[in-house]
Amino acid sequence: MHRRQLLNLLLASAVFTLPFGACATQIRNARLWRSEDKLRLVLDLSGPVSYKTFSLSAPERLIIDLNGAVLSGDLGQLALANSGITSIRTGHLGKSDTRIVLDLAAPMQLNSFLLPPQERQGHRLVLDLTSVAQAPVSIAKPSAPVDRAHPRRDIIVVVDPGHGGKDPGAVGAKGEREKDVVLSIAQLLAKRLKREKGFDVKLVRNADFFVPLRKRVEIARKHSADMFISIHADAAPRLTASGASVYALSEGGATSATARFMAQRENGADLLGATSLLSLADKDPMLAGVILDMSMNATIAASLQLGNTVLGSLAGITTLHQKRVEQAGFAVLKSPDVPSILVETGFISNARDSQRLVTARHQKAVADGLFEGLQRYFQNNPPINSYMAWVQEQKKAQA
Ligand SMILES: [Zn+2]
Repeated sequence: MHRRQLLNLLLASAVFTLPFGACATQIRNARLWRSEDKLRLVLDLSGPVSYKTFSLSAPERLIIDLNGAVLSGDLGQLALANSGITSIRTGHLGKSDTRIVLDLAAPMQLNSFLLPPQERQGHRLVLDLTSVAQAPVSIAKPSAPVDRAHPRRDIIVVVDPGHGGKDPGAVGAKGEREKDVVLSIAQLLAKRLKREKGFDVKLVRNADFFVPLRKRVEIARKHSADMFISIHADAAPRLTASGASVYALSEGGATSATARFMAQRENGADLLGATSLLSLADKDPMLAGVILDMSMNATIAASLQLGNTVLGSLAGITTLHQKRVEQAGFAVLKSPDVPSILVETGFISNARDSQRLVTARHQKAVADGLFEGLQRYFQNNPPINSYMAWVQEQKKAQA
C-alpha cells in the first residue's frame, strides 16, 4: 500500500512537470458505455492533459475544458440514444484548448479522472455520469452496451518452442530430441489457436533454428502479447522423474530444488536483465525500480493463475510431475508485463514419457490440453478490448 502511494505520487508529479511545448495533446476518439448505475464516456488521448469540469443548468449541461488539447477524432459517431446525453458539442477555447459540452436531458453528476497508458490503451480521460434524480429512468436498465466501436481485438498468444538449431535441448535414450517434440506440439497449438475466433498466434520459431532466450522475450513484447507460453520436454538426473509441470517466474530464487535445477538448465549462459526491456531509462532509478517491481508482481500473479488453469487441463492428458505451479527464475519468463508460463510437457529422460511424446497422437492431445487451459483462463480474464471481453459483455448484458 505504501509503495502504491509512493508510485502514485511519483507518477502524478511526473505528469504535472511534463513540458507541453508546441505539440498539443490530441483527443483521438471517444467511447461510451452504459452500466447498471452510470454512463461512462472515455476520451482517448495522445498524452496527458490538464482539464477542468463544471456544470450549468437551464438547460442542463456538463462542460469539460481541456488545456493544450485539440480534437482529432469525431465525437459525432457516439450512439447517444437513451443515454441521458442529448448531444455533444465541441469548440476551440483560445488557441489550443478544447471545450466539450454535454447537453443533458436531466441533471447528472460528473466524476472524472485520468488514466495513464496501460496494455494497449493510451492516456485516457474517464468521465462517469450518474443520475442525480432518485429514480434514474434512462440509465437504470442497461441493455446491450452502447459502445458500437468495441475493438473486439484478437488475444495475442506467443508460443515458444524451446531450444532449436544448435541447441537440441534434452536428448532421450533412443535419440529423441526435445527441440523436435516441442516444435510439433507448438505448431499444433498454434494451429488450434488460429482456428478459434478471437485469438491470434505467433510462433517464436516455426522451424529448426536457434533463438537466444533474450530474443524470445523480445518477440513476445514486440507483438504486444497477452500471454507467452514456452514449451519444453526436459530431462532430469533421476530417470524415473515423469509427467508434466508448469512454471511461472519466481519473485526471488527458485521455490524448489527441481525448479532451481531446471532454471539453470534452461537459462544456460543467456541471462537476461529485465530492466533492459522496459523503457525506464529516462526515469529516476527509484521510480523505475518501483514500476518494474509492481509490474513484475502483477504479472507473476497472472502467470500463476494462468499456470493453474493450464495444469488443470493437462491433468486429464498426462500424469503431473508437480500438482501445483512451480516458480523458478527462467529467463524466458522475465517479461515484466506479459503473463508467461513455461510448460514441461514430460521428461525426455523418462522412457515412458519419451515414447509417448514422439507420437503425433499424444502431441495433439497435449496441444489441445494447452489450448483448453488458455481458453479457460481468458474466458475468466478477458483482456480489455478483446473479442473475448466483448463476448462476455454481451452475455452479461443478456443475463
Ligand atoms: Zn527445455
